[in-house]
Amino acid sequence: MGFDLVVRGATVVTPGHREAADIGIAGGRIAQLGGTMTGTEELAAHGLLAIPGGVDAHTHLVHQGLAARVGFPVWVDDFWSGSRAAIAGGITTVGNMTYPVPDEGGAEETPGAAITREMAGAAGEAAVDWFLHPILLHPAALPEGEVGALAGSGHASIKMFLSDPDLAADEPALLAAATAAQAAGSVTLLHCEDGAMLAQAGEQLIAAGRGTVANFPDARPVAAEVAAVDQAIGIARRTGARVYIVHLSSAAALDRCRRARAAGLPVYVETRPLYLHLTRERFDEPDAAKYVGAPPLREQSDREALWAGLAGGDVDTVCSDHAPWTLQAKLDPALNVVTARQGVADLETLMPMLYSEGVVTGRITLDQFVALTAANAARIFGLYPRKGAIAVGSDADIALWDPGHRRTIDGAHMQSRSGYSVYDGWQVQGWPRFVIHRGQVAFADGQITTRPGDGQWLPRNRTAGILPAAEVTPRTRAIFRECPGPELGADVAPVQNVAQDSVHGLGPPPWLQASAIAMTATVVTSHNSSTACGKPRRWYVRRVCRGPGRERRTARREPTWIFSRPGISSPEASRVNMVSRAISAGSPLARSSLIEFRACCSHVLRLITGPPIASPRPPRSRRLGEHRDDRPGGAGRAGRAGTGLPAAPRPRRRRPRRGS
Ligand SMILES: [Zn+2]
Repeated sequence: MGFDLVVRGATVVTPGHREAADIGIAGGRIAQLGGTMTGTEELAAHGLLAIPGGVDAHTHLVHQGLAARVGFPVWVDDFWSGSRAAIAGGITTVGNMTYPVPDEGGAEETPGAAITREMAGAAGEAAVDWFLHPILLHPAALPEGEVGALAGSGHASIKMFLSDPDLAADEPALLAAATAAQAAGSVTLLHCEDGAMLAQAGEQLIAAGRGTVANFPDARPVAAEVAAVDQAIGIARRTGARVYIVHLSSAAALDRCRRARAAGLPVYVETRPLYLHLTRERFDEPDAAKYVGAPPLREQSDREALWAGLAGGDVDTVCSDHAPWTLQAKLDPALNVVTARQGVADLETLMPMLYSEGVVTGRITLDQFVALTAANAARIFGLYPRKGAIAVGSDADIALWDPGHRRTIDGAHMQSRSGYSVYDGWQVQGWPRFVIHRGQVAFADGQITTRPGDGQWLPRNRTAGILPAAEVTPRTRAIFRECPGPELGADVAPVQNVAQDSVHGLGPPPWLQASAIAMTATVVTSHNSSTACGKPRRWYVRRVCRGPGRERRTARREPTWIFSRPGISSPEASRVNMVSRAISAGSPLARSSLIEFRACCSHVLRLITGPPIASPRPPRSRRLGEHRDDRPGGAGRAGRAGTGLPAAPRPRRRRPRRGS
């Protein structure tokens, strides 16, 4: 069939697998991977890696007009210059921090009002897709139900600063906000530095005549980070809230998180490039202030621990914390250890620096690079696999990466208005040659080819995100044990909301048609479908595990948690049926380890997929998006032509028994 765009010959990177294959794109989404195809437009990408466009969940872009309104210096990139910086470095989605500022009357906005303002400001500027994290500066003063209302309108995260001593001391307010976030399905982002310790350290330095910015690292010691991380872990423990620690910087803090995660607490860890590439020796340089970010640059041992954390899975995401200032603003001699301007430009350099220093050097694998820069953030913030995956049905956000390209970083000629980079002069290997955003070429050979407003807001709601550990039921665990593969935990992700997602129209949601997660077939069979008596409709799932050494093992049928309740409206019920038909048809999830599929009383469907399961390399003739036949001598089968739908199931299903 003809597509809008065909990318020819790139090596498609999916978890555990590489294959040179053409990519067919239609309607802004990936429609076919591999096989024969033609396109209205074609892009030659031989020798390039096709990886998911980056998902940078932590940026500080300031829409136009806001700087004038607040009346004090702010970060210098708006959503347009920030988008350009993102795209030029392979990033196609950003999550921006939305600060309440004084409104026209001088009163501080509510988080909801700030979101409304920023939504309007970003819409005309952004060329990447974007989502917003509402910042709660004063959670104790929030209007009743604000966190839930924010999540209900698609902003399913909150951010709070433990570096604010008043807020850090107000445990009831913190716990209430985290509890509300947990109830609303939101992620709680926390800046982890102990505000009281910071204040004391800063005062002491100034009193001792050591107040210059060169002493900034001493004003924000590791102990302050560890104390706040302990507090954050306590919040996760006491509320069950999913806590996401932004820009973690030290070995000691990482160790606390590692232990908390081992204990099953829903604690996610982000770090940022500064801590991976630079150490506090930079503060011996005459222009030390240009390296200021909070937490500050740490020791070499911290840097090594963070790299080990990336490789070992203890760190979930690398995000830019793009917070750009001009060099002149950073080097303002009036600033001291307390007032130093925090943050650096890093959107354009995040992925190339991590690739060069991580993948090229062998510190991390290419799969880990993709997970850290795209897939994990997409999972945590409820965007996976629409974002963060090269898969049929996913948005066509693709960085076509030239792994051999060498470049010297030169911030003066990059997209951010910052005008400099903390990595100026670094030699890097690996840079995107083309970046495709929603099927449009947004960057080609160094040129930005997108426009302000080409980006779209990404709603996130209560069904989005990673399955909290608390929701991993014993049954789920039992099912998982039947398949080889990694343990349950942070990788268990519900594929998000079907019922409320209108963009998919009438057909099965495109993301249902494929998954980047490899292997194990699932067949759902409906049973006892009458709901007239008011009993739940039951469904049975039969799982065929196909991992190594488990060829054709058929798991026992498991009743799943999918049911429609009395009073469920017919559109929702028909969607349940639609989705189940899609699953019954085999292929949509045939390559995923679907374990749970349910409709809750709010008519929300969840597909909870498991972690990747290693599978043997498929024959090269097979289309990437194609159902796989594991019978000895079996041949791959094509999907239904033109529909993106799978072929009909093989007739070897047994009829399910009633009940269970
Ligand atoms: Zn930040």
